[in-house]
Amino acid sequence: MLDIQSIRAQFPILSQKVNGKPLVYFDNAATSQKPKVVIDAISAYYEEINANIHRGVHKLSQLATDAYEISRSKIQHHINAKYNHEVIFTSGTTHGINLVSNGFASVLKAGDEVMVSALEHHSNIVPWQMLCERTGAKLIVIPMNNEGELILEEFEKLLSEKTKIVTVNHISNALGTINPIKEIIKKAHEVGAAVLIDGAQAAPHIKPDVQELDCDFYVFSGHKICGPTGSGILYGKEAWLNKLPPYQGGGEMIKEVTFEKTTYAELPHKFEAGTPNIEGGIVLGTAIDYLNSVGFDNIAAYEHELLEYGTQRLLEIEGLKIYGTSKNKTSVISFNIEGIHPYDIGAIVDKLGIAVRTGHHCAQPIMSFFNIPGTVRASFAFYNTKEEIDALVEAVKKAKTMLS
Ligand code: PMP
Repeated sequence: MLDIQSIRAQFPILSQKVNGKPLVYFDNAATSQKPKVVIDAISAYYEEINANIHRGVHKLSQLATDAYEISRSKIQHHINAKYNHEVIFTSGTTHGINLVSNGFASVLKAGDEVMVSALEHHSNIVPWQMLCERTGAKLIVIPMNNEGELILEEFEKLLSEKTKIVTVNHISNALGTINPIKEIIKKAHEVGAAVLIDGAQAAPHIKPDVQELDCDFYVFSGHKICGPTGSGILYGKEAWLNKLPPYQGGGEMIKEVTFEKTTYAELPHKFEAGTPNIEGGIVLGTAIDYLNSVGFDNIAAYEHELLEYGTQRLLEIEGLKIYGTSKNKTSVISFNIEGIHPYDIGAIVDKLGIAVRTGHHCAQPIMSFFNIPGTVRASFAFYNTKEEIDALVEAVKKAKTMLS
């Protein structure tokens, strides 16, 4: 059992008022709030050990390098990667996906196929479209049903020896659906395709085991898991990371440079050109420690309670429709009220201190599927409460009365 009040006390931002009302933060799928240990670790880095890494022989540079590499190992253990050089620091999910999609330009030839799903965030669609334009490969889409679940029978039919990579999210940001990635990975491997999992929405709720999943790549962002903005992770199997060319050229990623030829550094440095987000990488480790101290099982169980409570309470409102009704979903509720634009609901509930997201959530194909301009999305974290859900329900009822 989590002691939510003492957890909330660790998040300074949550105690403030917005528009004269206590803040209710339900935009966790966009970014999470940060606990004091994370905020303090950012200051401590700059106050105590700030220096460039892997470069100087001086003490501070060694301390910063050690902290960065300790964080890498921490993340390796968290996701159960076999080697710590399979953990590449990135600026976030988008960076990780672009790194892999660019690398695949050297793998694909015209006529090959890249498979995405109907449930993807734009950042797991657009880089692959760009890759297809560059290489003459074809983009294939795994369809979904009305519950917002991928249709596995269709997926299996679409797979062939032409499929070179399948890229799907672990959890949909717009609907909250948890995808059956283990099955998807297994089927894709049967035809020899690689699999990238976009774990941006899963990392806050689930501790991924990349060896058990057997995925080839797994990416996520630090800012959604109580860590700093501009930090993130690309996990890649050693063999794949050795096969793909570097994404960016520059300092730190080389073995030797001459004007005739440059040789590249070993993993992970091959993919970490230039001065990285040192503080972000170090404090991402702090954030992961923090989440593990709360406990992922505790987080998942409590958030599921919030999801069930929120779903039941919101459905009391007449004319309210929830999009994404899979039984396998995380604490995301995407909804609309008949005849009312989602933006108008969002603007009114904001006046009452409640932060929700409105719009297409960077997943326009999902909105087109449901033939809607967007939704109101309330996404809950382990520091939210049922009382806050009650406040949302009252605010939405008020908005409905005002806008009807
Ligand atoms: N994929 C999914 C499923 C997401 O939810 C997000 C963030 N909303 C991203 C990718 C992109 O993450 P970032 O902006 O942190 O790179």
